[in-house]
Amino acid sequence: MQVKLTHELFQEAIPVIEQIEQAGFEAYFVGGSVRDIILDRPIHDIDIATSATPEEIKSIFSRTIDVGIDHGTVMVLFEKASYEITTYRSEGTYSDHRRPDQVEFVRDLKEDLLRRDFTMNALALSRTGQIIDYYDGQGDIKRQQIACVGNPYERFNEDALRIMRALRFMAQLNFTISHATLEAIRALNEQLKLISIERMTIEWHKLCLGKAYPQAIRLMLSSGVAEQLPAIDYFRKSLHILTEHPIQWRDEADVWTTVLFLSNHSSDMVHHIQTAYKLSNQLTQQIKQRLLALNQLNTRLDKKWSNKELYELNVNIESAAHLAAQLFEDFKDDDASLRYNTLPIHSKRDIVVTGKELKQLIPPSSIYSVILNDIEEKILNHHLQNEQNELLDYIQFNYKDYLCF
Ligand code: ATP
Ligand code: MG
Repeated sequence: MQVKLTHELFQEAIPVIEQIEQAGFEAYFVGGSVRDIILDRPIHDIDIATSATPEEIKSIFSRTIDVGIDHGTVMVLFEKASYEITTYRSEGTYSDHRRPDQVEFVRDLKEDLLRRDFTMNALALSRTGQIIDYYDGQGDIKRQQIACVGNPYERFNEDALRIMRALRFMAQLNFTISHATLEAIRALNEQLKLISIERMTIEWHKLCLGKAYPQAIRLMLSSGVAEQLPAIDYFRKSLHILTEHPIQWRDEADVWTTVLFLSNHSSDMVHHIQTAYKLSNQLTQQIKQRLLALNQLNTRLDKKWSNKELYELNVNIESAAHLAAQLFEDFKDDDASLRYNTLPIHSKRDIVVTGKELKQLIPPSSIYSVILNDIEEKILNHHLQNEQNELLDYIQFNYKDYLCF
C-alpha cells in the first residue's frame, strides 16, 4: 500500500531519513503514526526506527542528545525540530514480565517489528509512502481488530501492560480484540499486578478518554482485568453503572469525579485514589473541587440558582455542570456555569474596598462586617460596581453616623 505523506510532521522528518539513507543505513517511520495515517486519524507525533546503531546515528548528525542510549534511542536535533530515532532491536527474555532482560541491536526491520505489541502497531512506512507490513497489520486494521504480533500468551507474558494497551486501543479506536488475544487477556490478566502504577495510570486514563470506553470497561469487567485495577473495590459499582449509562468525559478529572461520585464516595476516597494511582496534586485538587461542586449541584436540581446562591457555592461549577447535565435528569440550569463565571466578584477577597480603606473612614468596629456584607450583596445584584470610588462614596453616604470625622 502507498500513502501520501502530506502531514507536515512527516514532511519535516523526510530529510532526516534521507540523511540516514545517504550514510548507507535504513530508516522508517514506525508505530502509532503509521497506524493513524491508515486510519485517517490525527497524527500527534512520529517515531523513527533505523538499522544504524546509536553511535552511527551520532556520527551522522551534528546535534544529538543521548536520551535512552541503552535502549537504542538518540534524539536528533534537526532544523527547528527534534526526533527520537531508535535502532532496530530485538528483545530477549522477560523474566520479570515487564522489561526485557537485555535488548540487542539488529539490522533487520522485520525483527524490530516482531517485538511490537499489536499487528496494527507493527507497520513501517518509508519516506516515499510505502507501507511495510510483515504481520498483516493492514488486514487487522480493515477488520477493525486488535491482535498481538505472534503468540498473544508470549506477548502478554513478556509485558503485561500490553493487556491494558489492548483495552485502551479498543476504547480509542472502537475496535474489537481478536479471539486469540482475548483468550490470553482472560488467562493472564493477573500479571498486571506486576506493572508499575505509573504505566497503568497512563493507559487507564487514555482508555477512559477513548470514545468507545464503555465497551472497553465492559470487557475489563467480564475478563477479570478490572480486578487488577488498584483500589477497584472503591469503584467497581461505578464502572458497572457507566457501562449502562456512559458519561462523556473531557479530561481525567471528569473521569475520577464521576467514578467517585457514583460510588457514594467519602472524602478520604479521593486521597486513597490519589495514592493508589499516583495522581498529581494538581489533578487531585481538581477532582476535589469538581466533586464538591457536583454534590452541591445535586442538592438542588429543580430550581435555577440565583447569582447570590452561585456565589455562595464558592466553587467553580463550570466543569461540574458539564457532568451534572449528564448525571442528573432534572438538572436544567445549564447556564449556571456561565453565570458563575460572569459574577462581578467570586469572594469577599475580590471586593476592592478592604479593612485598610475602611480604617481611614471609620474607627475599627463590628460595623465593618455589616458594611462588607452590605456592599457584597449590592455588587452581586449589580446595584453597585466593584469600583473603589463608587464603594467609598456609598459607604460615606450610608454609614455617616460611624465616620471618624
Ligand atoms: P499513541 O497514539 O497513543 O502514541 P502508539 O502506538 O504510538 O500510540 P506509543 O506508546 O507511543 O504508542 O508506542 C509507540 C510504538 O512502540 C507502538 O506503536 C508499538 O509499536 C511500540 N510499543 C509501545 N509500547 C509497547 C509495549 N508495551 N510492547 C510492545 N510494543 C510497544
Ligand atoms: Mg506514540
